[in-house]
Amino acid sequence: QVLPVVGAPKGVKVAAFSEKPLTGKLAVVTGAARGIGAAIAEVLAREGATVIGVDRPADESVLGTTMSSIGGIACPLDITDADAGKKLAAVAAQKGGKIDIIVHNAGITRDKMMRNMAAHLWDMVLDVNLGAIVRCNDQLLAGDAFGSNARIVCISSIGGIAGNAGQTNYAATKSAVIGYVDAMAKQLEGKGISINAIAPGFIETQMTAAIPVVTREVARRLSSLSQGGLPVDIAEAVTFMASPLAAGVNGATLRVCGQNLVGA
Ligand code: NDP
Repeated sequence: QVLPVVGAPKGVKVAAFSEKPLTGKLAVVTGAARGIGAAIAEVLAREGATVIGVDRPADESVLGTTMSSIGGIACPLDITDADAGKKLAAVAAQKGGKIDIIVHNAGITRDKMMRNMAAHLWDMVLDVNLGAIVRCNDQLLAGDAFGSNARIVCISSIGGIAGNAGQTNYAATKSAVIGYVDAMAKQLEGKGISINAIAPGFIETQMTAAIPVVTREVARRLSSLSQGGLPVDIAEAVTFMASPLAAGVNGATLRVCGQNLVGA
């Protein structure tokens, strides 16, 4: 169904959402076994997408359960695998299509004050939270694995905007994701692919349960979601970015942290 657009030149029409807006779309969500990634997978599926959920092979049974509950496809894969993008393209092709939506959600923390930060912990966080996203997108682009009007959504963090003591590695990656998205949006101009970021505030998940108490309390104060936001809050924002409603949004970072208390 199409409707005329109010105030638009004659003949310009927009699809009405009489059906689920992501029907027929193939979506990849990384870190989909639990937490924010599982919620994203669920909401994308609710809106009609077929979801390929990616998580580390060690979480295979959890991933399988999460994906079967939403009729999705479990893809056990470590996103730091040097060929992760190529492997995802192959899985998508097996399912008969190109990737319409990819949500780079998998992320880790390895919090330490800088004086105690071992080099391998610094590198590990950089590789999962930043390097893997860049490599994966490069491989998907090189392999022509994205569908037309594809949407790339990267999960950053309010910690990448405000910083947090003990999270130098994490904040550096989440801040870099914002710059990467901004630059890639310009680089992808004319290709019909948009790329945006979401910067969540404090969300109650296994990740935040595991971080040291002091870091956790400061992280809470970076957003007015002081009781902890819910994974579904992020999932709804991601789904907006992936939907036709966000057709004019590119290179943007959407903060989903309640009231902006960061001051930036
Ligand atoms: P969780 O730790 O609860 O879930 C992350 C999932 O990603 C886990 O299943 C994890 O598996 C998986 N994962 C980690 N590394 C890899 C990898 N190399 N390959 C494949 N899967 C991997 O985190 P959240 O749900 O809380 O966070 C999701 C995203 O949101 C992250 O990018 C995080 O930085 C971001 N974020 C979270 C906030 C919060 O308050 N929770 C706030 C701001 C941003 P495994 O258990 O094996 O590590």
